[in-house]
Amino acid sequence: MRYVSTRGTAPVLGFEDVLLTGLARDGGLYVPEKWPYFSADALRGMRGLSYAELAARIMQPFVDGALDEADFARLVAESYAGFGHPAVAPLSQLDANEWLLELFHGPTLAFKDFALQLLGRLFDHVLARRGERVTVVGATSGDTGSAAIEACRDRAGIDIFILHPRGRVSEVQRRQMTTVAAPNVHNIAVEGTFDDCQDLVKAMFNDAAFRDSLRLSAVNSINWARIMAQTVYYIAAGLALGAPDRPVAFSVPTGNFGDVFAGYGARRMGLPVAQFVVATNTNDILTRFFASGEMSTRPVVPTISPAMDIQVSSNFERLLFELHGRDGRAVSQAMQAFRESGTMHVTAAMLAEARGLFDAARLDDDGIRDTIRAVLDRTGSLIDPHSAVGVHAGRACRRDPSVPLVTLATAHPAKFPDAVEEATGRRPALPPRLAGLMDRPERVTALPNDLGRIQEFVRAHARSVEVA
Ligand SMILES: *Cc1c(COP(=O)(O)O)cnc(C)c1O
Repeated sequence: MRYVSTRGTAPVLGFEDVLLTGLARDGGLYVPEKWPYFSADALRGMRGLSYAELAARIMQPFVDGALDEADFARLVAESYAGFGHPAVAPLSQLDANEWLLELFHGPTLAFKDFALQLLGRLFDHVLARRGERVTVVGATSGDTGSAAIEACRDRAGIDIFILHPRGRVSEVQRRQMTTVAAPNVHNIAVEGTFDDCQDLVKAMFNDAAFRDSLRLSAVNSINWARIMAQTVYYIAAGLALGAPDRPVAFSVPTGNFGDVFAGYGARRMGLPVAQFVVATNTNDILTRFFASGEMSTRPVVPTISPAMDIQVSSNFERLLFELHGRDGRAVSQAMQAFRESGTMHVTAAMLAEARGLFDAARLDDDGIRDTIRAVLDRTGSLIDPHSAVGVHAGRACRRDPSVPLVTLATAHPAKFPDAVEEATGRRPALPPRLAGLMDRPERVTALPNDLGRIQEFVRAHARSVEVA
């Protein structure tokens, strides 16, 4: 498989380079040159496979020509072996013909584990073969940092440095990062905000000498391999509910648009999906876009579903590329206009095409608490604030009650215990395998919001520095 940039001018790359490169050199995002396609018969033939077997089968065309089939299947199996549920991504029933896809059984209790567990192993495998090392640096406001650390811990080819804003992530989130006792994991608590952390990471990448000498690398959500891994659970859920002989609808709690774009990919690969609901919180740029065809930014408002507190959804560019008939030049112009003016329009025809498949709805914090309470009253189960946005939006936008509606439950309620307790009076307990989390010793270095000091720390602790 070869990959092209959404902006049309970066070199066409194979899977291995796309994996290690992340962002394309023309500022675009990599997408497959052609979507693989599974016929209805091929999909029927996948019924009854284990999650890992299905995942290897679905993703094989994306890595074709880069990874040996048996090696890849082994990496995939290892990626999901540590999940806390034998079905990996089980469905639970919420109401008549309405389901939750539980994506929170991974090591850090959010769906990001599905992609990052595989990404860490793919990096390590490719680096070992090339005899190379990288230094992963990233900033986190919570979920991504812990998932990336779990994925990269103890890997020979990787050192990982995660910056978080000191005192501004929840205790569970902090401990999921700082209690990982692996010599290649480094947590930096920055005296500043999440934006400061992001600026520091950007500045490290923009320092060419620093970037090259440390072989800096990123595992953020623009990496194609993350989308690839997320297509699988849509197909797994669809098969369990009768696809390809019956269509399915999905409601997806959305921030960067990566997860819902993976669903779009699953549909392009042959899964019959009748409808996607893009569920947003108060930061509703996407809901406003699907209503009007105009994308315009507003300041970010903090909510109790913080993983969705995003204004510019970087992965939306991948859908834009498809709406523009895969014309990289047109996407490049649209993105440049957006960067300059903070506004972007699509044509009426493109909006109509998008609306044929996508609906969108928003939910504020009061609505989130109401939804968590309502689900508890009806089912006896607790859901997390992000999943609550999905449940509400799915119900608000549902087109056809005879089509099974699946809401992606993107995090475990115990990851956001304060919000869930405030809504219901009940404090969700951590799953037994994480029980020791609150007692384990923490390893973290507090540093000022100072690029020089942080670079000095990274240089001193990364093993990849080549002394020339
Ligand atoms: C990252 C995240 C999201 C948003 O996913 P995108 O792919 O960025 O749209 C939703 N819920 C939770 C719990 C997350 O961690």
